[in-house]
Amino acid sequence: MEELLLAWYGRSARDLPWRRTTDPYAILVSEVMLQQTQVERVVPRYLDWLERWPTPTALAAAPAGDVIRAWQGLGYNRRALALHRAAVVVATEGWPDDLTRLPGVGPYTAAAIRNFGFGENVLPRDVNVDRVERRTGHSFTGSAAQALMDLGATVCLARIPRCEVCPLAAPCPSRGTRDEPARKQGPFEGSFRQRRSETLRLVATAAAPRAELDGEAVDALARDGLVAVAADGTVSLP
Ligand code: SF4
Repeated sequence: MEELLLAWYGRSARDLPWRRTTDPYAILVSEVMLQQTQVERVVPRYLDWLERWPTPTALAAAPAGDVIRAWQGLGYNRRALALHRAAVVVATEGWPDDLTRLPGVGPYTAAAIRNFGFGENVLPRDVNVDRVERRTGHSFTGSAAQALMDLGATVCLARIPRCEVCPLAAPCPSRGTRDEPARKQGPFEGSFRQRRSETLRLVATAAAPRAELDGEAVDALARDGLVAVAADGTVSLP
């Protein structure tokens, strides 16, 4: 099963910039950006980021405000601060043995860095990988990680798998079947997450009095360290 998958990947791999590097820092940046943002939106931002901050040391030396500003538009802004803090750890102590000690790095991102950055045979597990393994009944190795991601993102889709073009169709016991519809994430439009995002965008443009902003959103952003509120009520980036 894995050979079929790898042969297909050899023919149809998506050319993504983080697949051309084994620099663990570049992999970290790409994985944190990809945690909740689509690939197409991440590509140009990833390239800009590495041009501006090519090493953990360069990123660690940047003011948190610059990092938050550079993150604007990627969403889930806490990731920017986590990435910044992770760069500080790596710049001062080196890469920890347990990568999940780095802020913003969970088991999936840690496995991705170990595989794509340090060449270890570990399989980063996300919903796509789990779905393909469940449907095929096969356990894949770390060598198949990128191929599995592509298959899960473009062929073995969650709602309507494209079995007719799937390289694993012949041996796959789930060929032609569908899963029950999954619960959808709540709409972003009008949500508190959108209010936070819009408030941070305003503050990133220029410091502003709290009274002119969404107070609840300011409080939540301040709790996460994404904005600072001065004694006179002025809200700015940290
Ligand atoms: S045959 Fe269908 S269900 Fe099986 S892995 Fe391919 S796309 Fe997924």
